[in-house]
Amino acid sequence: MSRISKTTVGTINVTTLRDGERTLPFEALKNLSDEDFDNIKSDENQSFTFTNFNACVIQSQKKNLLVDAGCGTLFGPTCGFILDALNELGLAPDDITDVFITHLHPDHIGGCINQDGSAVFRNANFKIVEEEYNFWTAKEFGSDEINGRDWSSLAKNVLSAYDAQLEVLKSGKDIISGVSTVALPGHTPGHAGFRVDDGNESMFHMGDIIHVPNLQLKNPNICTLFDVDPERALNSRKYALDLASSDNLLCTSGHMLEPKYVYLEKRGSSYFTTS
Ligand SMILES: [Zn+2]
Repeated sequence: MSRISKTTVGTINVTTLRDGERTLPFEALKNLSDEDFDNIKSDENQSFTFTNFNACVIQSQKKNLLVDAGCGTLFGPTCGFILDALNELGLAPDDITDVFITHLHPDHIGGCINQDGSAVFRNANFKIVEEEYNFWTAKEFGSDEINGRDWSSLAKNVLSAYDAQLEVLKSGKDIISGVSTVALPGHTPGHAGFRVDDGNESMFHMGDIIHVPNLQLKNPNICTLFDVDPERALNSRKYALDLASSDNLLCTSGHMLEPKYVYLEKRGSSYFTTS
């Protein structure tokens, strides 16, 4: 089965790369309603807690921008296929001119480095927003399994592998021409989505505001254990979903299932996909 899904925004080519898929343990979810619990418990196929791990390639003006890099070997045998997906698109790692990471969580940076710690994308400028860089490099991290020392060590290892290529973006600066960051803090302090704009066409990538679309679009109050600041993450989730639906933006996200590109319609406090 294909790992890539293509669309265009004006003259810019956008391709989602499916690095992998798996179900999340429902213990990773917080603020579940009674209805959510019932749905999860009665669903033998675990479709409510199913998720995809997506990266993205934006091709414009001889640039091949990779957004996020998948899980590498960190999330088991159903994940870590970023290079297969790139190959399906006709690209080798050395063809990537720019890398942008929405946030430095393992499922987004595991694929950035080889087993020996060296950079996979040797020719790429490596870009992250300033708040994200500051969070993972400045803070003392404890022994928490999530957002603790293990995750910060990985983030630091990745940053060090790309040290010579690293560009820390001030807010509002374009990633490449036509691609700009959208601050969505909370999941991590510098967590960012991005928009692609060309002519009168646009696309909005909402980053990791949702992890299990089959639950969280209907009930956006559901948070995950991975949120550094759940309250702020909730505000960003609602902001992003409202922006996508009110402006009728073609949108996608880091954990979107199929189809990858959708429009959102708000009904009550829930959101429904249309394509
Ligand atoms: Zn993620």
